Order: sequence, then C-alpha cells, then structure tokens
Amino acid sequence: MKIPIVEDILSANDRLAAENARLLADQGLLAVNVMASPGAGKTSLIVQTIDALRDHTRLGVIEGDIASRLDADTIQALQIPVVQINTGGTCHLDANMVHGALEQLPLDVLDLLFIENVGNLICPTDFALGEALKVMIASVPEGDDKPYKYPGMFAAVDAIVVNKIDLLPYVEFDLAGFRQLVTGLNSGVQVFQVSCTTGEGIAAWADWLLGKTTDRMAANQT
Ligand code: MG
Ligand code: ZN
Repeated sequence: MKIPIVEDILSANDRLAAENARLLADQGLLAVNVMASPGAGKTSLIVQTIDALRDHTRLGVIEGDIASRLDADTIQALQIPVVQINTGGTCHLDANMVHGALEQLPLDVLDLLFIENVGNLICPTDFALGEALKVMIASVPEGDDKPYKYPGMFAAVDAIVVNKIDLLPYVEFDLAGFRQLVTGLNSGVQVFQVSCTTGEGIAAWADWLLGKTTDRMAANQT
C-alpha cells in the first residue's frame, strides 16, 4: 500500500497552483499573496492600498482566515469584489482553496488581486497559490528579530512591508539593522516602510504595486 507523504501533497498543490497561475495570466491579472503573523496589518494594508489605487486599477480580494468573515465584510463595505475562505483550522491557504475562490470572482474585470493568507509566518510559503508576487508584512511591535526566527519567509518574498512605523518612537526596533538582516537573507527584496494608521509610506508601496500591475497587463496584451 502506498503511504501518502508530504511531498506528494506539495506536488499536487504545485500542479493546481500552476493552473491558477495560467488562469490569472490569461486574464492579465496580477495576484499578490499577502503573508504576515496575526495582527501585523494585512487587512489594514489591503484597505489602504485599495484607497490609494482604486481610481487607477480594478482590485479584488480573497480573504483567508481560519474562521469568521470579518475581514471580507470590511472589504465588501468598500464595494470591492471579495471572497472569504474559511480554512476550518488549517493554518495556511492552498491552491485548491484559491481555485475555488477564483471561480467566485469576476476575473475578467479585475487587474490586481490580493490574496490575504492566514496569519502565520511558517507554512504559507510552502504552498504556492498561483500568485505572481509574494509580499510579507512585518510590524514594528513584533520586534526586529523576526528575520532570525523565520528566515524562510523573509527569503521567499518579493517585498517586505514594515508596518506601524508610527510606533518607532515607542518600541525598540532597529530599522537599519532589520534592513541589513533582510537583504542578507534576500538580496533582491523590496522593503517599504508604512503606517496604515497615518498613511505614511503608502504611496511609495502603492506606486510599486501599480507598476507591477500595469507590467502584467501589458504582458497580456502582447
Ligand atoms: Mg486580516
Ligand atoms: Zn499551515
């Protein structure tokens, strides 16, 4: 009898993720896998980015949570297409869950899709979803030692958004040291510093993302 092993599960996930990626590429849609620990500000960053970009591009959101539809309600109140995935205890999204969510979204009228992963710095990087970009949020109150503790996440992402920089005067967080640490783990990574509370830094992050979105749309048209 064949005993299923983790590698089989991961390769099955990779096949489905490739299917999702094809579907998204066909639509010229840029999907961004947003990862962070709970409370770092994933939903807050998505809300701020919607605010910054909604006059320039068409956005949609997939919300992943273990339970509840609170974050999806927040997005829906902004009149942005959204699907909530409840994983029922699973601590990450997988390609199959995202595939189901993609079927519920009007993909042909979207340009940029956020996929908010479950709050967790460990296994979300093991499960490709079909995304074009991986972004992680690291928030100032979590401390500047997270790259030591979760190097896999910091090494896997295209961009790191340092959130809650309005708290820097009150929390011990060595920003220069943190930047040095993350570029040591991931030399090509983009690092942004934002506050979703004051709006500081959001424009630079949103501009970068809009550039990636228009690149993707242009690639689709040629
Ligand atoms: Mg959230
Ligand atoms: Zn997990």
